[in-house]
Amino acid sequence: MKRIISIVVIVLMITINSANAQTNSGLLNSSIPIEMLFPQGKSKALILSFDDGMVADRKLVKLMNDYGLVGTFHLNSNKLGTKDYLTKEEIKNLYKGHEVSGHTLNHPNLTSLSKIDVIYEVLEDRKELERLTAFPVRGMSYPFGNTNDFVVEAISGLGIEYARTVGDTYNFSMPVDFLIWQPTIHLFGKTNYIPNDTANDSRELAQFYQLTTDFLKANSVALFYVWGHSWEYEGPGNKWAEVETFFEIILKNPDIYYTTQIGLVDYINAFKNLKFSTDKTMVTNLSSMDVFVKINGKVHAIEAGRTKILNQ
Ligand SMILES: [Zn+2]
Repeated sequence: MKRIISIVVIVLMITINSANAQTNSGLLNSSIPIEMLFPQGKSKALILSFDDGMVADRKLVKLMNDYGLVGTFHLNSNKLGTKDYLTKEEIKNLYKGHEVSGHTLNHPNLTSLSKIDVIYEVLEDRKELERLTAFPVRGMSYPFGNTNDFVVEAISGLGIEYARTVGDTYNFSMPVDFLIWQPTIHLFGKTNYIPNDTANDSRELAQFYQLTTDFLKANSVALFYVWGHSWEYEGPGNKWAEVETFFEIILKNPDIYYTTQIGLVDYINAFKNLKFSTDKTMVTNLSSMDVFVKINGKVHAIEAGRTKILNQ
């Protein structure tokens, strides 16, 4: 009988110890960073972003709608209604389902302006685009991609949550600073930037498709940010057919989160605002978006407005 009691005690001790070990496993794992995944646990995101709002956007938006792709369009509201630009009246309907974003009123080089003129160009553009679309405009791209610390400081506090440069990174990293957001690559590289340099054009095009392939094969979290102008495809070289070729490669991929730029900003902010317990076993999502994270190789969906216990 004595022997049975000691066996029971030993078994109990082992059980209690393993229970303690389980409780502590969250703490033990807490040095492993929580990884952000995109909505539905996807590992890739695609942003298609186009500047200037010229009439060729009509053809581009129609193509994107046909292919089920979403885009962000950066417009100069003072240019709308002038030669080769869209009319003010059409933009609300044309860009339905896409994001309308700022590009300043008149497309100046912001780095050469006084602070008050930077504010005027950005804020008045924002106001007019909001009036035309009846929707909040929360981002922009810099005319000519030009910016510096002075410009960034001037636009901070104007309700601009992201601003894109043209400094291509040729990689799939997430933005470090939303107000100096560097894209991955210009659509088709710098093709046709050097007139008649066909060798250079082919090299640029090959690099663009190589990067597209690398993105589709990427194993870790990857953001492919492609930017350009619809008017570029009107020139020589049958660029519209090339646009369609790219769209066909990139569309309807279950691994890709197709998003506007502000959509991704909102999602990243929702991830950053997740409220974790110190041992990372509990988390509250205060946002209105379901957020997906990977911890220790396991994917967790954290529903909007809910607290979740994470079984790691
Ligand atoms: Zn521009």
